[in-house]
Amino acid sequence: GYRARSAYKLKQLDEETDLLDPGDTVVDLGAAPGGWLQVAAEAVGEGGTVVGVDLQRIEEFGDHDIETLRGDMTEERTRHYLREAVGEGGADVVASDMAPNMTGEYNLDHARSVHLARQAFDTAEELLASGGDFVVKVFQGEDLDPFRDDVAASFQYVRTVSPPASRDASSEVYLVAKGYTESPVAEGD
Ligand code: SAM
Repeated sequence: GYRARSAYKLKQLDEETDLLDPGDTVVDLGAAPGGWLQVAAEAVGEGGTVVGVDLQRIEEFGDHDIETLRGDMTEERTRHYLREAVGEGGADVVASDMAPNMTGEYNLDHARSVHLARQAFDTAEELLASGGDFVVKVFQGEDLDPFRDDVAASFQYVRTVSPPASRDASSEVYLVAKGYTESPVAEGD
């Protein structure tokens, strides 16, 4: 079984938008406890690579070859380790299911969600190989459209998807951006 029900969201996103292929290198941001990592590892198979990052420690996987990092994606240090883990070939898919701690205050939760989504977008631009895909969770609200426009500028197209497994849950949607149109940034420092 999967470690989290959210695994089904990634499965549905993949079915609808064809994100994950055998041999892919997949980066998963906000990966704990590891449901998406399990789905990604199954899809990419033996020849693929899966790297997950979270603030929380992710328990090791016995049956899959999944690399995990503990860190805060808003810190450059974490992004540095992640670039090292992914290596020169870059990533085929960057996925983010990151969510802020909910306060219940709609505007604040929305703003924090968009902030995390923008961090994920920056990371996608650092890591994605040309033609790569980006999927990111974001709570609906006034900053969603401007964010979507910014993402659209770097990809062939963007879709807003609400997978059936997430329809109960609040205001979350996923942006699925396909076909990254810029080459990955050379590794700095
Ligand atoms: N997709 C995961 C799965 O299938 O198991 C569930 C992810 S859960 C909805 C959201 C995660 O985002 C939490 O584990 C949280 O710790 C993580 N997160 C939130 N802010 C983060 C940050 N700044 N850096 C890294 N992870 C973060």
